[in-house]
Amino acid sequence: MDVRVLLRDTVLMGLAYASVSFLVLEAVEFGYPTGSVFWPGAGLTLGVLLVRPRRTWPALLTGVFVAETAVDLTIPVSLGTALIWAVANTVEPAVSAWLLTRRHPVPTFADVPGILRFLLLGAVAGPLIGSAVGATAAWATGISAFWPTWPRWWVGDAIGVLLVAPAIIVWPGRRREPPRAGPRERRGILVGLVAVTALALASWPGDVWQQGLPFLIAPALVMAALRLGPAATTTALAGVGLAVNAVTAAGFGPFAEYGTYGGLVVAQGCLAAAALAGLTVMALSHDLVSLRELDEHRSALANTLAHELKGPLTTILGHAELLEPGTPSDQTLATRGAIERGARRISRTVEDVLELARMDNPSVQRRLVEVDLSGLVRDAADIHKAAAGRAGVRIDVVPEPGPVRVTGVREELETMVQNLVSNAVKYSRADSTVTVACSVVGDQAVLTCSDQGIGIAREDQLHLFEEFYRSSDPQARSRPGTGLGLSIVQRVVDRHHGWIGVESEIGTGSVFTVRIPRAAPIGR
Ligand code: ADP
Repeated sequence: MDVRVLLRDTVLMGLAYASVSFLVLEAVEFGYPTGSVFWPGAGLTLGVLLVRPRRTWPALLTGVFVAETAVDLTIPVSLGTALIWAVANTVEPAVSAWLLTRRHPVPTFADVPGILRFLLLGAVAGPLIGSAVGATAAWATGISAFWPTWPRWWVGDAIGVLLVAPAIIVWPGRRREPPRAGPRERRGILVGLVAVTALALASWPGDVWQQGLPFLIAPALVMAALRLGPAATTTALAGVGLAVNAVTAAGFGPFAEYGTYGGLVVAQGCLAAAALAGLTVMALSHDLVSLRELDEHRSALANTLAHELKGPLTTILGHAELLEPGTPSDQTLATRGAIERGARRISRTVEDVLELARMDNPSVQRRLVEVDLSGLVRDAADIHKAAAGRAGVRIDVVPEPGPVRVTGVREELETMVQNLVSNAVKYSRADSTVTVACSVVGDQAVLTCSDQGIGIAREDQLHLFEEFYRSSDPQARSRPGTGLGLSIVQRVVDRHHGWIGVESEIGTGSVFTVRIPRAAPIGR
C-alpha cells in the first residue's frame, strides 16, 4: 500500500484525535485525575477504524498513539504514564473494532440486535479493557486510586463511543436511507430538537424547571430517529452530546448544581439514555420501512403475475368458445366444458389476486368519498339476482328509510358488499332466502348478510379470512371459489377501520356482520 496514504492517515487521525482531546481537556480543566467522564476521542477512533479497511488500522492507531502521548505530556504526566495511557487508548478501539467486525459486518444501526452488539462490544467490552489499563497505570504511578478511576474512565469512553461513533459510521453513506419526512417536516423537527436542547440547557430560575427539561431531549431525538433517517439522527445525537457536555463543563445548565464534575457524570446518564432510545427507534423504523418495501414488492409481483396470466387465459377462453361450431359430440362438449371451467377458475383467481395486490400496495392512492352503503346493497342484489334465480335463491333487501353514509373508497366498499352477497348466494340451498340489510347504529354503519345455506363449521370460522382458505366441507368445495373473497373483504373492512364477524351453524346458515365507522361526511 502507498506509504504516502498511510502517512496521511496517521497524521490526519492524530490531528483529529489531538484536537478533540485538547478541546475536552480545555473545557473540563484537568483537576480530576480520576478519568474524564466524556471522552469523544474514543468514539472518533472507533468510528474511523470501522469505516476504514483493516490494513489502515496500524497507521490510524499510530496517529492516535502519538497524539495521546503528546496530549498526556501537556497535562502533564510522566512519559511512562503518557505512554501507557496511549497504549490504553489505542488497544481499546482496536479491540472494540475487532470484536465488532469479527463475525459481523460493520454495524449499520439497522436492526436491534446490531445495536445491542454495538453497545456490548463497542461501548462496554472494549472501553472496560482500555480503562482498566489506564486506571492501572494511574494507580501504579500514584496519580490516583484504581477505583473509582476505572469506572469513570470507562463511562467517559463508553459515552464517547455511543455519541460519536454512530455518526461517523453512518455518514459515509453506509446507510443510504432517505428521510421519511418532507423538507418542511425535516426543518420542523430539527428546529424543535435545537429548541428543546437550548431550552434544557438554558439557565432557568428555580431548579424544578432546570431538572425536568433535559428529559425532553429524548422524545425529540426519538422523533428525529423516526422521521429523519440515520445520517441526520446520528449527527443530531453527536451534536446534542457535545452541546450538553460543553455547557455542563462550563458550569451552566441543569446539571450545574452537582458541581462541574458531578454535573458531567449526571449528564452522561441522560445522554446514554437519549442515545440508546434514538438508536433503537432508528433501527425499528428501518424495520418498518423494510416491511413497507416488502409489501410493495409483493404487490408488484402479484400484479405482474396476474397480468401475465390474463393474456393466455383470454386466448384459451376465446378458442374454447369457437370449438366445434357444428354438432359437437358428447366428448367434445365435455372437453370444451372442462377447458372453460378451468380457465374461468384461473380467471377468477387472477382477478382476486389483482384486487388484493392493489389493496396491499401502500403507494396506490385511495380516493375517499361519501358512499351510501344501502345503494351498494341494492346494486349487489341486482347484480346477483339472475344467478340467484337460477339456483332457486331469493335475495331480500331490507328497506332502509334513509341513506347509510360512510366515508370511504367506493370501489372497495362495492367489492366488499358484492363478495358477501355472492358468497351468500353461492353457499345457499335451493328454495332459500338471502337477506341483506344495512342501517345506522350510533356512529356506525352496520351491514348484515344472512343466508339459509350450508353453514360453516367452527374450525373453519377461525380461518375464513385467511388468503386462499377454503373450508374442508365437501359441499362448500363443490362450488367454485378461490378462497380470496373474504380476505379481500377483511382488507376493505380494516382499511375503513371497521370490524367483521360471522355467526354460523352447519346446515342452518350464516350471518356476516360488518360495522364501519361513518365518520364526518366529506365536504362538510
Ligand atoms: P371462496 O372464493 O372460496 O368463496 P371466500 O374467501 O369468499 O372464498 O370464502 C372462504 C370460504 O368460506 C369458502 O370457501 C367457504 O367455505 C366459506 N364461506 C364463505 N361464505 C360462506 C357462506 N355464506 N356460507 C357458507 N360458507 C361460506
